[in-house]
Amino acid sequence: MGAGAGRAGTGARAVFPLPYDQGHTHAGCNVENAAYPEGVCAEAGAISAMVVAGGRRIQGILVVGTGAQWVTPCGGCRQKIREFAAPHTPVWVANADRIQARLTLEALLPHSFGPNHLSPPKDTA
Ligand SMILES: [Zn+2]
Repeated sequence: MGAGAGRAGTGARAVFPLPYDQGHTHAGCNVENAAYPEGVCAEAGAISAMVVAGGRRIQGILVVGTGAQWVTPCGGCRQKIREFAAPHTPVWVANADRIQARLTLEALLPHSFGPNHLSPPKDTA
C-alpha cells in the first residue's frame, strides 16, 4: 500500500449516508490516494454499497463535511447520483454540528442527462 493509499476522510467529505427506497442507509467516505485520480469520492462508495445491498433508488442524500463551508458532491458524483435519483431528490448539506442547507439534485445538476434519455435496449432475438 502506497503512502497515501487507504486514507479515508482526509478530504472535505467525511461521511455520506444514502437512504434508498427500502429504507436503508449506506455510508461512504473519501478514500484518497497518492496518485490523485485513483481516489474515490464518498458518494461513489455509498452508491456502490447501496447497489451491493440491492438498492437502486436514492430517496435523499446527506453530505457531511468537516468545516464551516458547505460541501456538495463534485460534478462527477452529481452525475453518478443522477443515475439513481430524480431531479427533486433532496441533498442535505451538513457539518458536524448541523444541517446547513437543503438543496435538490436539480439545483446541483440542472438540465441533467439521465437514464430517461437512453433508448431501451432493442430486442435482437
Ligand atoms: Zn465526487
